[in-house]
Amino acid sequence: MNSDRVLFKNANVFDPYTGNWKKKDLYVESGIVRPSFCCKEPQEVVDLKYSWVIPGFTDSHCHLIGLGSKLRSLDLSRYNDLEGMFSEIKAWIDKDKDDKRDFYLFRGWDDQRLGRSPTKHDIKKWLGENVKIVLVRYCGHVGVASESLCRKFGITDPDGMVSEDELNGILDSFPRTKTELKQDFIEGVKEALKYGVTCVHSEDYHRCGLNDLIELLKDQTMIRVFEKLHLNLDEIHGLKNIFGVLSSFSTVGSVKLYIDGSLGGRTAYLSEAYEDAPTKGRLNITPKELEKYALLANKLGVQLSLHAIGDAALDVALNTLWKYPQRVKSRLIHLQVTRKDQLEKLPHLNAHFSVQPHFWASDLEMAKKRIGKRMKTSYAFRKMYMWGARRMSFSSDAPVEPVDPRFAIESAMKMGFSWEESVALHTMTAAEVAGPYFSKRLGRLEPGYLADFVVYEKDPRSLPEPSMVFVNGKIPTLIKGGDRSVGSR
Ligand SMILES: [Zn+2]
Repeated sequence: MNSDRVLFKNANVFDPYTGNWKKKDLYVESGIVRPSFCCKEPQEVVDLKYSWVIPGFTDSHCHLIGLGSKLRSLDLSRYNDLEGMFSEIKAWIDKDKDDKRDFYLFRGWDDQRLGRSPTKHDIKKWLGENVKIVLVRYCGHVGVASESLCRKFGITDPDGMVSEDELNGILDSFPRTKTELKQDFIEGVKEALKYGVTCVHSEDYHRCGLNDLIELLKDQTMIRVFEKLHLNLDEIHGLKNIFGVLSSFSTVGSVKLYIDGSLGGRTAYLSEAYEDAPTKGRLNITPKELEKYALLANKLGVQLSLHAIGDAALDVALNTLWKYPQRVKSRLIHLQVTRKDQLEKLPHLNAHFSVQPHFWASDLEMAKKRIGKRMKTSYAFRKMYMWGARRMSFSSDAPVEPVDPRFAIESAMKMGFSWEESVALHTMTAAEVAGPYFSKRLGRLEPGYLADFVVYEKDPRSLPEPSMVFVNGKIPTLIKGGDRSVGSR
């Protein structure tokens, strides 16, 4: 299907704005939905036979390249014992010998499932003394480095545990090649499109050259990307021109900062100590530093995206945003541990809230141990929404959780959201988080909107897989010159 003017006849279209279904024809011209009366001579007519059609999903927070890289490598989340995990890692490395690779990275391990966290001593025992390897916990915030890396990077933890800056420092010194970057990206895109995610607010500036990343985004026409960059102040000062529209598919529009870490890794910053350890977690950025970012982002008209998992981290974010109101509405990501007074404040804050309902399902047992009674007002996305924080959007944080929106929708429905609300928060409202770039262009299928949509043969309210996915009115070809496409299954 390569025509410029296509009439999709007999569609049963869901509108997230009204929450209603409507039987209608969709006329698409040059990738944009047009009023039906404009449809004079379509080059192609597709009869959808009243299949269910919903706007393409927007994932308001994920890591597309990290997702692809996880899919192309050994996924450690599937292991329940250390021995099984290490023997598979060993087999993977042995198989890979010809590649002359000198650094290995695997992610996904879960100390709850394994019984404990792996250590550098386990690595030595199973993989030898000289291997350069990092095993990252599924949250992405904590990892374990092998003995040789610990020596090289001056890691003093007796078990080789590293987190946040230390972890990123090691990973960034083994950047992906341009080819690996592209392969990871394509793999991530394929996975997202397969489940109807046609737009990602992705954060990918990790283990790669910034120019390589920008070049890749500029050239791609497979999926809509709103890129958030994890940059330090000097980089932002030096790279002012990097923000803006790269193409009708890619935009770089936000600076992403990590105020704290993860609850599982006990690096989320809490106002009271953890229930299961004498620590309050860790603040990654001081309020003073954050103020500097807030001032600079405002000056440049760039969105601030703030990762805040613990309630004390959220306090830091709220205080800064109150003190320095932003021209471009900021985005708060995660908001897992919250107090009642914070839930009451959120509706009055000029910001978007990007949450991951599926974290609640995955974290439940671990979170109870970490924060005990505080669970009552934590993962309180339904409360937040009902109390007025309507600028909420759903996301996966893939590769932490699967990019398939059905996981978020299913968990959200268990939390009390309706299917209609959940889809609206994963399409229209999620699109609005990109500010002027994609809001009012994505997330509905009204005239003027981009023709990104998902077609279901079965009622999507029963959460089936999509049967076809369209981006820009076309089924995306994922491999240039090839014929592999998503949706034509
Ligand atoms: Zn993330």
